[in-house]
Amino acid sequence: MNRVHNFSAGPAALPDAVLERARADLPDWQGLGMSVMEVSHRGPDFMALAERTEASLRELLDVPENYRILFLAGGATLQFASVPLNLAPPGSGADYVVTGNWGRKAVSEASRYLNVNVAADSESTGYTTIPDPATWSVRDDAAYLHYTPNETVYGVEFHAIPDVSDAPLVADMSSTVMSRPIDVSRYGVIYAGAQKNLGAAGITLLVVRDDLTGRARGDTPGVVDYRLMAESGSMWNTPPTFCWYIMALVLDWLRDEGGLAVMAERNERKAGKLYSAIDASEFYDNPVDAACRSWMNVPFRLADPELDDVFLAEAEAARLTNLKGHRLAGGMRASIYNAMPESGIDALIDFMADFEDRRA
Ligand SMILES: *Cc1c(COP(=O)(O)O)cnc(C)c1O
Repeated sequence: MNRVHNFSAGPAALPDAVLERARADLPDWQGLGMSVMEVSHRGPDFMALAERTEASLRELLDVPENYRILFLAGGATLQFASVPLNLAPPGSGADYVVTGNWGRKAVSEASRYLNVNVAADSESTGYTTIPDPATWSVRDDAAYLHYTPNETVYGVEFHAIPDVSDAPLVADMSSTVMSRPIDVSRYGVIYAGAQKNLGAAGITLLVVRDDLTGRARGDTPGVVDYRLMAESGSMWNTPPTFCWYIMALVLDWLRDEGGLAVMAERNERKAGKLYSAIDASEFYDNPVDAACRSWMNVPFRLADPELDDVFLAEAEAARLTNLKGHRLAGGMRASIYNAMPESGIDALIDFMADFEDRRA
């Protein structure tokens, strides 16, 4: 395969092994003479795939028995609205911690349904820090506390689970899920769009503690109701079957690679290398507090922003693609999810050093 090093923030690079397997399977899945897209989601073959996917997730993420695993549509963004609809009765309130634009967007969607208290917000630092949890203004009677463990645009990541409130903890893990082992039992709800670390855009993973299902408001649409979706095996309506299948392949790959402990070790090393190269240079700069730098999204700026376009064009010519930073943050961003091999990081570091030698 003639593949570039793709540093896209999402939809992001997939492992070559996943693409090769999907290509081989495509016209004739499991000897059925049909693709996986063409079979009934209620037939035995797809049902077996669905069960295998859930079992893999339960094993890899170490999901306790009292949590349900759901496969939903609508992206992480639909969860910005689904979380309040499912967890908070009308007139109640929830706490939100904002450490970047995704947390801000979650606040704006939730505000349609309940009283949002922004317990902390790092906007005044340009989203380069995480406010000390001891200073968060959480409320005892909040329906839940929502935060974003990894803010994809600014490259700010929590390296510990905050422990400041008795309210159920809800986490948008879209850009960090499966990057390391986590203690699921500390959470009420975890959700993640698939297109960063779990597969293709179009399916969303949601892990919810049993006691938080069955509380949805009466006017909640069925497709976003956690209890209905849990009771129907996420097949209350037709699920995104092809995306589900791709997720299953990504989980097979994760298991073959050694699971999340191996991923964590690899991701920490990959990110560490890149930050070290940035910090050692006078020409590149990452503004994020060292304590909360993301393992998954590494933004950096050039000393001379006039060179941004040349940098991107030359990187592209060197087959290092999608390095342009988000329009809100400017500069560059290297997204280095699980599927980015260490050789991709090395190639980027070599290119950056060479560019600096020639242009600084
Ligand atoms: C990408 C991303 C989203 C948006 O996901 P959609 O699938 O586009 O809805 C939300 N939150 C975070 C942290 C993300 O990285």
